Amino acid sequence: MPRHWFHSPRYTVDMGAHTFPTVKFQRVAESLVERGVLSSAFRVEPGDPSRDDLLLVHTPSWVERVLDGKMTLDDELRAELPWSKKLAEAHALAVSGTMLAAREALERGLGIHVGGGAHHAFPDHGEGFCLLNDLAVAAERLRRGGLAKSVLVVDLDVHQGNGTAAIFRDRLDVCTFSMHQEEGYPEKRERGTVDIELPAGATDEDYLDVLTKRLPAALDAHRPDLVLYQAGVDVHERDLLGSLKLTSGGIAARDRFVFEACFRRAIPVGVTLGGGYSPSLEETVLLHVQTVREALAVFS
Ligand SMILES: [Zn+2]
Repeated sequence: MPRHWFHSPRYTVDMGAHTFPTVKFQRVAESLVERGVLSSAFRVEPGDPSRDDLLLVHTPSWVERVLDGKMTLDDELRAELPWSKKLAEAHALAVSGTMLAAREALERGLGIHVGGGAHHAFPDHGEGFCLLNDLAVAAERLRRGGLAKSVLVVDLDVHQGNGTAAIFRDRLDVCTFSMHQEEGYPEKRERGTVDIELPAGATDEDYLDVLTKRLPAALDAHRPDLVLYQAGVDVHERDLLGSLKLTSGGIAARDRFVFEACFRRAIPVGVTLGGGYSPSLEETVLLHVQTVREALAVFS
């Protein structure tokens, strides 16, 4: 049976001229269908998450400010997002998308969310284009529901997932593995379970040398029931917000390695797409499409 995948065209929100092109996830979804990688018949549109789900990792005050339009100017500046009802809805829907992909992964080995990866969202505030931490809510929901005893968030976006690390600080049942750039955003890092910093200019070879040594060790040490993968493609050499120098082929090898390492250990993977800010939107879209192709090549 073809697999379900998760995406909403409502992720696209008009924010005027903004560094984060919200339309990119919609373009990725369209491109995946146009190329015959995924069938539109099996796209599942996420619904609104319950407030109780959001409250698993966020404070009541933050959830209210986001959902009910009470964000302050400081909140908006910190998140680098202009609040609107549609924006709040989009970010809430993306939490559901990752929860659904995580459940699909537990049932079928792989769950694909064409969106998500809001790893800069903290319990009580948003940062870096992120309001609600979909990865954290999904991990906590599955853990509390008894569906997964342990979850490892593998975050290979070029920026440290500081929100996710802060939410799960000192926890043993939800751990984080992050490889990110040494310099730049976010200025203040949070301590995750495994944090690996790469110098500006790191190449495919530099990157894969570290990943292939460290990720298997983390998987074997934590033996997670589920991996949630933040597959940001802002590690690309032309990315405007990253300082690493991976090629498209290097990112394909990265993704393939993550999926194979999990598949070989029978660890299900829920995929979220995360960051990607090439000057050309089409280039970013193709990099995200490539991640989904690599996932399907390993898990089909
Ligand atoms: Zn990023």
